[in-house]
Amino acid sequence: MIRVLVWNEFQHEKTKDAVKAIYPNGIHNTIADFLRCDDIEVRTATLDDENCGITKEILDETDVIIWWGHMAHKKVPDEVAALVRDAVNSGMGAIFLHSAHHSKPFKLLMGTPCSLTWRESSDSELVWVTDPSHPITQGIDRAIELPHEETYGEPFSIPNPDKVLFIGGYSGGEVFRSGCLFQRGNGQIFYFQPGHESFPTYHIPEVQTVIRNAVRFLAPRYRADILCPHVRKWGDPQGYVR
Ligand code: ZN
Repeated sequence: MIRVLVWNEFQHEKTKDAVKAIYPNGIHNTIADFLRCDDIEVRTATLDDENCGITKEILDETDVIIWWGHMAHKKVPDEVAALVRDAVNSGMGAIFLHSAHHSKPFKLLMGTPCSLTWRESSDSELVWVTDPSHPITQGIDRAIELPHEETYGEPFSIPNPDKVLFIGGYSGGEVFRSGCLFQRGNGQIFYFQPGHESFPTYHIPEVQTVIRNAVRFLAPRYRADILCPHVRKWGDPQGYVR
């Protein structure tokens, strides 16, 4: 079983009727509901949970974390963001969705401002597949059609991704690196742009397919804290110096 933790700040859904109408149980439960299947088990956590619902023990039992945040990035304690960073370095997978580009853990892992240009003009978007051979793009045709999405544009101040899997093109003309893969330490990170809270993006089957594919791709095959061991010469049966 792949153990997923869906983290959502869960603020818009409590305060805005239009968002509540799209995600009555919160974005986290919508994502959890479409992910749950024979090989994926899902827990959720939100900003208002104690310690944001995140401890080292919980992350130790998490294979892939999914993060959605927007209006309350600053309310996530630095210590929580550091726990997520450390777990990724040890091998946990992490998917950052939409406005999580400015979340504390994503910025910690990237080391750059992670800023972009944006408009809320109800543009339509085509999310183009750049690598049809990649496990994360399986089941997607040439592009995913989003009738409305918040417009995100370049420059997106991230480090060069290891791979760009999707490029978004908007009716207003902007383009954006909408699906980006990174490795940090033993862990893999996928940033995926669709998912503005005012549009029913996470109800679109192709978007769900990408997130499900990403969970399976990012689930760790190897997980260990990265140490800096003092070692003996190769062949010495005592190996590490303790
Ligand atoms: Zn947004």
